[in-house]
Amino acid sequence: MPPVEAEPEPSAQTGPPPKETPGREFAPVRVEEDRIIRTVVGLRPFRPSGFVVRAETQGRKTVIHHYGHGGGGVSLSWGTAHLAVELAEAHPAASHAVIGCGAVGLATARLLQRRGSQVTIYAKDLPPQTTSNIAGAQWQPFTVSDRAHRTPAYEALQERAARLSHRYFQDLTGHHYGVRWIENYSCTEAPEESYRADPIADLYPDGAAYTPGGHPFPTPHARRFSTLFIETPVYLAAVLRDFLQFGGRIVVREFASQEEWQALEEPVVVNCTGLGARALCGDEELTPIKGQLIVLLPQPEVDYITLAGALYMFPRTDGILLGGTMERGEWSLEVNEEARARVLEGHRAFFAGMKAG
Ligand SMILES: Cc1cc2nc3c(=O)[nH]c(=O)nc-3n(C[C@H](O)[C@H](O)[C@H](O)COP(=O)(O)OP(=O)(O)OC[C@H]3O[C@@H](n4cnc5c(N)ncnc54)[C@H](O)[C@@H]3O)c2cc1C
Repeated sequence: MPPVEAEPEPSAQTGPPPKETPGREFAPVRVEEDRIIRTVVGLRPFRPSGFVVRAETQGRKTVIHHYGHGGGGVSLSWGTAHLAVELAEAHPAASHAVIGCGAVGLATARLLQRRGSQVTIYAKDLPPQTTSNIAGAQWQPFTVSDRAHRTPAYEALQERAARLSHRYFQDLTGHHYGVRWIENYSCTEAPEESYRADPIADLYPDGAAYTPGGHPFPTPHARRFSTLFIETPVYLAAVLRDFLQFGGRIVVREFASQEEWQALEEPVVVNCTGLGARALCGDEELTPIKGQLIVLLPQPEVDYITLAGALYMFPRTDGILLGGTMERGEWSLEVNEEARARVLEGHRAFFAGMKAG
């Protein structure tokens, strides 16, 4: 019997139309040992079942837990903050305590201020010392949960948070906040298919697929899409300034337990402590996924992101970031030299293999 041919997919599902060439030039990244300016390490606050946004009563306080964003906390921050503030609105208060000053705490604090609250941030570390400062950050809620552990209700919640957050970030584009649109090139051995199942694929506009020979990258296939790109050092400093400008107060303080929140003057506490919530709340599902980035001298002429297998390159104004490590369950903040060598060599070979012009 002759093989049955698959039905052609309807055009709405065929993804980006093939294009002949990107029609632009790409400056290659100069991956050289003596252009490295630092290597940084951060721990993604990962929960297999996804982020937590949940309210509870603790003694005299309402506590809203808001943590566990894995590898997508910058991307999701405004969206999950919106969800957390919706929960807070059920407990009207004139003042709020936000615990934590990363991307999640800052977005939460600003949304509470926009609703007229007097907000105090209590945090052990402030930018630039947070995990959020390590993030790249490409706008993509990636490695936020494990498929096997997600419920349909959670999936709907994450999609809502992603859509809300994407819209909030669009209002922050420009030099002031360090947020901009950027082209991404996903470079693969075979044509990509999996992105079609992504329920938020429409948030990555300007798609195009390039066949072998039609693009300068050293893999047979490449797919283009655009994302928002958040320069975290610029962005977090700007949001922190906004917070202070709108009357916010900051107290540098480490909490050893949730009981200590009972003594705070604010009646509602929003817990945005990221990985810190594991010890504070006994949430053993929270686990670190260690990530490491090599930072090269800036190259302003590099104006695109590359994604190739596990490797990625983000061109920030303070340096070119080379990433591609995910060590689940690893708490060490020491540089992993083996991973560093692998990421450096992988990118060196990738950019050396790029066609000029
Ligand atoms: C290498 C790397 C690359 C990444 N790339 C991206 C990316 O491209 N896009 C993206 O969206 N995300 C990315 N992420 C993920 C992102 O960094 C996290 O999801 C995000 O930073 C989580 O934000 P947060 O505010 O919850 O946590 P944090 O930034 O860690 O902030 C937590 C805050 O809580 C405070 N705190 C904790 N415990 C206590 C305590 N006991 N008492 C008082 N204060 C406490 C801390 O001091 C800090 O102020 C990346 C992460 C890494 C490591």
